[in-house]
Amino acid sequence: MLSVAKKLWQRGRALLPKAGFHFDRPIVVLQSDDWGRAGLRDRQGLEQLRAAGLNLGERPYDLYSLETAEDLAALRGVLTRHRDSAGRPACLEMNFIVANLNFAPMEADDFRRIHLLPLSDGLPRDWDRPGLLHGYREGIVEGTFRAALHGSTHFCRSAVERELGNSSDRAELIRTLWRAGTPYIHWRMPWIGYEYWDPSDKEDKRMLPRNKQGELIGYSVGIFAKLFSTLPRSACAPGYRADENTHRTWSQYGIRVAQNGPGTCTPPHFAEGDLLHLCRTVDFEPAVNPAFSVERCVGEAEACFQRGIPAIVSVHSINFHSAVHNFRDKTLLALDEFLTVLSSRHPDLVYLHDEDLYDLVQNGSYQTPGGAMRINVTKKKFTKAEVVGPGAA
Ligand SMILES: [Zn+2]
Repeated sequence: MLSVAKKLWQRGRALLPKAGFHFDRPIVVLQSDDWGRAGLRDRQGLEQLRAAGLNLGERPYDLYSLETAEDLAALRGVLTRHRDSAGRPACLEMNFIVANLNFAPMEADDFRRIHLLPLSDGLPRDWDRPGLLHGYREGIVEGTFRAALHGSTHFCRSAVERELGNSSDRAELIRTLWRAGTPYIHWRMPWIGYEYWDPSDKEDKRMLPRNKQGELIGYSVGIFAKLFSTLPRSACAPGYRADENTHRTWSQYGIRVAQNGPGTCTPPHFAEGDLLHLCRTVDFEPAVNPAFSVERCVGEAEACFQRGIPAIVSVHSINFHSAVHNFRDKTLLALDEFLTVLSSRHPDLVYLHDEDLYDLVQNGSYQTPGGAMRINVTKKKFTKAEVVGPGAA
């Protein structure tokens, strides 16, 4: 009965109008997930897994690795070439996974349980990425990168640990990957869930309880502070699986902006946890979307500008990887073209990051090295039912 009442309450709340923010300038925000998250280690790891019987290469995420310092430099090269009317470069909001699996003590433990290695302490054994942390920080100082919080692991730890306790094909698959220095490949094992979401539970119980989420978020925020000498102001839950407890906890840790996935054309608005909620509106994923085209992305951005809402571009880190498979070059060419087309059509375009948007809706201005920039912000009422598109997830 309780869950029926909860569902009715949630449905009723979706019908309540909210105030959405609209802007009189074209705004582009680039949001990108999974930075710092280790995947397939290198060619040797790839061959090891193929020898163990995994037919790697069936999907792009089989070849997901981890960015290199060269990938970051090439990306910054494109972003710095694109400056807006205020002289600021295009800026990528990078959502970080701030810990990886610590394979050395895990192996000593016979791969029976998880040990984590904070990204601030480096990368797991046999992973080699010289200059990577320095590369993140350089981009942040330059204004082309902005660090935000994704989580400490992408998968649900309790779901994986439960599987490890069984002698099953699932446990064997996990250990095969771990022996090759790869934490997981999600599409091959969706039962690992997402950090705050355990798929083995009943539908309405899959989100972890508030105290558990609190522990995980507190741990992530601590590592983030060590990594970047600041607290995160924006966050995106792994798999976009967040609930009221996630939002309230984020808010308690000083996070101001909640990033949400694509599928709707929702304007920025305040909701749970007094967070500014942003929804992605442009699907810029050349590495994984066979239907990707620059033209289509330009069309999605133009539709946002017409409605007076920011073009919030989703572009996951895999698109910039080159270590095992070169996804990077195609993406950078496409990104360059995308930004060139938009800025030539809209000379008044501005590149903002999440915190700028927060400042803008609060104060009507955001800070640039040249002083405060004002943009007219208006509020219009909308309901969730109005903005849910056919592709909503
Ligand atoms: Zn992610």
